[in-house]
Formats: sequence, structure tokens, C-alpha cells
Amino acid sequence: MERPGAGGINSNECENVSRKKKISEEFEANTMDFLVDMPFATVDIQDDYGITDEPQINSERSKEKERIKSDRVKKRKPKRKDYQPNYFLSIPITNKEIIKGIKSLQNAVIQQDKRLAQTMVRDGSFHITLLVMQLLNEDEVNLGIDALLELKPFIEELLQGKRLTLRFQGIGTFKNQVGFVKLVEGDHVNSLSEIAETANRTFQEKGIRAGESRSFKPHLTFMKLSKAPWLRKNGVKKIDPDLYEKFVNHRFGEEILYRIDLCSMEKKKQSNGYYYCESSIVIETFSPGNSSMTFHTRHFCICCL
Ligand code: AMP
Repeated sequence: MERPGAGGINSNECENVSRKKKISEEFEANTMDFLVDMPFATVDIQDDYGITDEPQINSERSKEKERIKSDRVKKRKPKRKDYQPNYFLSIPITNKEIIKGIKSLQNAVIQQDKRLAQTMVRDGSFHITLLVMQLLNEDEVNLGIDALLELKPFIEELLQGKRLTLRFQGIGTFKNQVGFVKLVEGDHVNSLSEIAETANRTFQEKGIRAGESRSFKPHLTFMKLSKAPWLRKNGVKKIDPDLYEKFVNHRFGEEILYRIDLCSMEKKKQSNGYYYCESSIVIETFSPGNSSMTFHTRHFCICCL
């Protein structure tokens, strides 16, 4: 029998060590899952604080080497992400036919892999994101509300009294991480892109940090793997296209643009499952010359009125 503490590892200790190793690995994995979602996940702390592994040698050659290395590091270093959107303009999806279709799609996916239930977008919160932005305090939120109100006449001018009908058909993904229902390409999607562009300009002109570096790609998200980061450890790294193959040509229905909401990404959702809204505009386009109405609400959404 081995003496505990004599340098050797007995079977108990061995089990302890491997359990400790396992716990430590799990902790690391959890921490990574958490960190990958953080805005600063790609920033190298060592680079930021000038910490290097090499001792400093004061010769010309080593200075030159340092300079080349630092140039390389500068090129490699991603920009510090101090822009983290926390608000967005949302077009809520309210057509029951579309919602029913999405529920069938979600159920079909879940039936094939129960673990994916956690990745589904919840009932009541289906939407199209028109613009993301950062509003850091009450004043900025008020600026955002003003910008939304200013956007309304622009949209009405663009639509010239006509309805904007969004048709949904088929499935797409962003890098197999986000699953969405696609919009049918055409004039109406072009108008939607123009509205998104105008919204971006209107909010930025108010001094609000808004928009993204990538181009606007309207989509109706029904699932995203980032909602269940622990699935990665269980080997679920991609949405398998077989899971939604029956829906690749499915017509989900149409939604007429009626309302745009300024929503918080972080505040507690409403009891109906929809996001917390700071303000909303209603676009009325039924008959020419009909002046559209504006609802301006604070701390609750017009869909609760
Ligand atoms: P949303 O439906 O707007 O909540 O977006 C769902 C997810 O899709 C979010 O994680 C977005 O970051 C991501 N996303 C939105 N637009 C794009 C895009 N054009 N390319 C890649 N990912 C996107």
C-alpha cells in the first residue's frame, strides 16, 4: 500500500486528481462559453497591457525584433469593442398563420433533437430587426424615441400610401448558428432595406451609435444556438439542415408592415413574450390621404394597450 503524501498517487488521489482536472476543464469550458458571448472576447489582455513572455534585452537587434513583433501584434489585434448594441428597432410578426408555421417548424426540429428546445425563439417575440443601436442612459433613450418619431414621415413618404407586404418562404441560416425564415426577394424587401437605411441615417444624425458593419439582411429568426451555449460541449456545433428540410420551400405567409417598436435587448420582456418597448410608431397606409397615427408610449408597448 502506498503512503499518502509520499510523492506517489494512490487510486483515490488519482480519482481526485482526475475529478479535479475534470472540474477544472468543465469550469474552463463554462467560462469560455460565457466569454465567447462577451463583447471583449477577442481582445488579448496581454496585448493591451504590454505583457509579454520574453525578457527585455537592450540591444539594437532585439529592439528591431520588438518593433516588428509589435507591428505584427497591432495588425492582429482586433479593435476594442466599446460599441455593444442594447436596443433595436423591431417589426413585430403578428400574423397567426406565420406564427403557426414557425411553431410547426420548431416542433419538427425539437422532435428530432429534444436538446434543441432551448435554442428556440419564444412565442410572442418573433420579429424582424430593422436596426440595432446603443442607448446608454435615459437621455439617449429619449433621443432614440425622437429619432423613431422622425423616421415615421420618411417611411410614409417612401411607401406613398401603399402597404408594405413582407412574404415569408423557406429557411436560411447564418453560419448554421442562427436559423431563420427567409423573406421572398422583391420590391418589398428593397423598400424594407431602404427603410432600414433611412432609419440608420436618422438615428446616427441624432448622434446615436447605430448599425452594424455587415449589410442589412432581413430575416425572421426561429432558433439560435447561442441561446444554449452548453450544447457545444455535447457536440451540437451546427444546425443540421436535415432538421428543417421539410420546410425549405414552405410558404409561411405574409405580414403587412404596421408597426415599428424601439425595444430593449436587456430589459425584462413583457408578459406576452414580446420585448420591452420604449416607443412605437404605427404606419397607416390604408387609403390615400389618410393621415397616419402615431402612438408614443413610455415604459410599455402599444400592443398592451
Ligand atoms: P435577430 O433575429 O435580429 O435577433 O438576430 C439573430 C441573430 O442573427 C443575432 O445573433 C444576430 O447577431 C445575427 N445576425 C443578424 N444579422 C446577421 C447577418 N447579416 N449576418 C450574420 N449574423 C446576423
